[in-house]
Amino acid sequence: MIKKRIDELKEIINKANYEYYTLDNPTISDYEYDMAMAELIKLEEENPSLKTLDSPTNRVGGEVLDKFQKVTHSKEMKSLGDLFSYDEVLSYIESVKKVTGDVKYSMELKIDGLALSLIYKNGYLLQASTRGDGLVGEDITNNAKTISSIPLKLTKDIDIEVRGEIFLSKSRFEKINNERIKNGEEIFKNERNCAAGTMRQLDPEVVRKRGLDSFIYYIVDPEEYNLKTQTEALSFLKELGFNVNPESKSVKNLEELLDYISTIDDKRLDYNYPIDGVVMKYENFSEYNRIGETVKSPKWAIAYKFAPLEVKTKVLGIDFQVGRSGVITPVAILSPVLISGSTVSRATLNNEDFIKEKDIRIGDYVYVRKAAEIIPEVVSVVLDERAEGLNPFKMIDRCPKCGAPLERKEGEADYYCNNDKCPARIIEQIIHFASRDAYDIAGLGDKISAFLYNEGFVNKISDIFKLKDYAQILLTKEGFKERKVTSLIDAIENSKQNNFDRLIYGLGIKNVGKKIARILTEKYPDIDKLMEAKEEDISSIPDIGDVIAKNVVDYFKNEENIKTINILKENGLNMVYTSTKSKNESIFTGKTVVLTGSLVNYTRDEASKIIEDLGGKTSSSVSKKTDYCLYGSDAGSKLTKAQALGVKLITEEEFQEMIKE
Ligand code: NAD
Repeated sequence: MIKKRIDELKEIINKANYEYYTLDNPTISDYEYDMAMAELIKLEEENPSLKTLDSPTNRVGGEVLDKFQKVTHSKEMKSLGDLFSYDEVLSYIESVKKVTGDVKYSMELKIDGLALSLIYKNGYLLQASTRGDGLVGEDITNNAKTISSIPLKLTKDIDIEVRGEIFLSKSRFEKINNERIKNGEEIFKNERNCAAGTMRQLDPEVVRKRGLDSFIYYIVDPEEYNLKTQTEALSFLKELGFNVNPESKSVKNLEELLDYISTIDDKRLDYNYPIDGVVMKYENFSEYNRIGETVKSPKWAIAYKFAPLEVKTKVLGIDFQVGRSGVITPVAILSPVLISGSTVSRATLNNEDFIKEKDIRIGDYVYVRKAAEIIPEVVSVVLDERAEGLNPFKMIDRCPKCGAPLERKEGEADYYCNNDKCPARIIEQIIHFASRDAYDIAGLGDKISAFLYNEGFVNKISDIFKLKDYAQILLTKEGFKERKVTSLIDAIENSKQNNFDRLIYGLGIKNVGKKIARILTEKYPDIDKLMEAKEEDISSIPDIGDVIAKNVVDYFKNEENIKTINILKENGLNMVYTSTKSKNESIFTGKTVVLTGSLVNYTRDEASKIIEDLGGKTSSSVSKKTDYCLYGSDAGSKLTKAQALGVKLITEEEFQEMIKE
């Protein structure tokens, strides 16, 4: 089974290598290629006996054509290892730190072109060659001489070998393709393939016309020129007259390093040349030997590859989630893919109309992206790749958890399970009650809530406060050690002092969100007053309409709910509202906020001003010290980084509520 998959992957990769390196005409995306390679590397690592010498994981580049003279490189031109997520970056940095004791890197853009070696004698360009298979490349000296940014003579009369990247700017690429369309010729797939194809032209005049460019970033044996670090090497290259990319930066700790990655990721489309990631290179050459190399790539340098913004994957199934109000949400189960640094295996399908409009079927290939709300969403179906015989989507008519018939109300897109005793709904209600914004009971998350319900410990919200009576039985359950049980019971006991608005929000009264709960409890600062409130009085409060007023009154009329409130009262939960506002303090006082993406109601400057007026600070980069990340649509990698660092994320809607408070 594993061997079969390994063989399959090798075949995919070998074919792709040939098309990419030799024919300059790829038929799969770089991302699909990278994922196949990552899977092969993993399988070979887990099954070393299945790793053969001819595996593409051992090989750099492709075959060298006979069109040009062959050049044996003085020192092998290796490839770079790839990292695809922040987690992988963290473990890479950790592994190098074990050797060097520090985090000092030259951070550079990863230009998506083709590698080139240039040999200078006495300051004059002697030979230019491609990387080829790493050991032997092709002599492309005449072509390289037509590229104006490659100096024919250096500013110093020295012997030196340097390496870098030949690339085509986006504007040149567009021009070339437009001309090709006019002439009825086949267009180039991307800048890299056009650049690579161009360098293999036998006529240097064609190369000159195409307008290629270069960035040089590496010196062979840099210590011979008294250079100690990569940053010094880049300055020296500039001094010699080479075109050196201006975006490189020397970073001195992990925070600066992650910052560089996320800043560049945000701007990745703004450059007039293609980049597909960033390269981090350990600064001190003196440590290179100790850090080491693999057959294919050095360990002292590595690439972080940007994930595409939309990724293709397969719909394996469609699941149905039941919310605490009974709303049914269809969710696509996906073949796992990496998007913006994290693995995605589920995406919301919103409702029946959404699926039908896009005609999403189980077995389809779809494009998925991270939406502004962080929950991944399906963008479109790849109809060309639809297999025969896939059935159109059909909405279920019974609750997947309790079997009750579902109802779709006139004018609404959602289906509801109306069974108050539906286990899925009750578990969701418990999860909501204990959540951070509601009663904030640490330790009572999704899994434990479901477990406590399924095992009969907590059948409704009020049972949470009886859990201490069953602590001894809980201790006999697998995974419930003394410490875990004690801290859960303590968290429950401590939560009883929570402010009254948290309780009202936690009860899950229809349409009563955090803000409405606060307004209600400010107006009716204890439970008796709230329970006695009249519908017309409630609806006369600004921000509260008739529907909410009716929902509140209905909730407190219901026998079951009254019973719940009485039990909660008996258990000593605080049911009085205390204002937490102090005149000079706001929720943003002393807090650092990072803004990312575009907001609907504010420009970034306006939002920053509001935060500053409320005593907060805004910052352009995310770090562990960031308190909030306010994100809008098209939020980029700052959002991913904030997530990775566990920073509290806030939407524009939440921001508006916070500033009102
Ligand atoms: P790579 O492109 O992932 O990384 C190594 C290369 O990065 C270096 O050789 C160098 O040329 C380049 N580079 C750019 N900026 C650099 C910088 N600042 N410092 C150092 N190096 C820099 O590896 P590769 O071996 O050249 O190519 C493999 C990649 O090519 C794959 O990951 C894939 O994305 C693509 N590929 C695609 C297909 C396909 O069919 N789509 C097939 C083969 C390869």
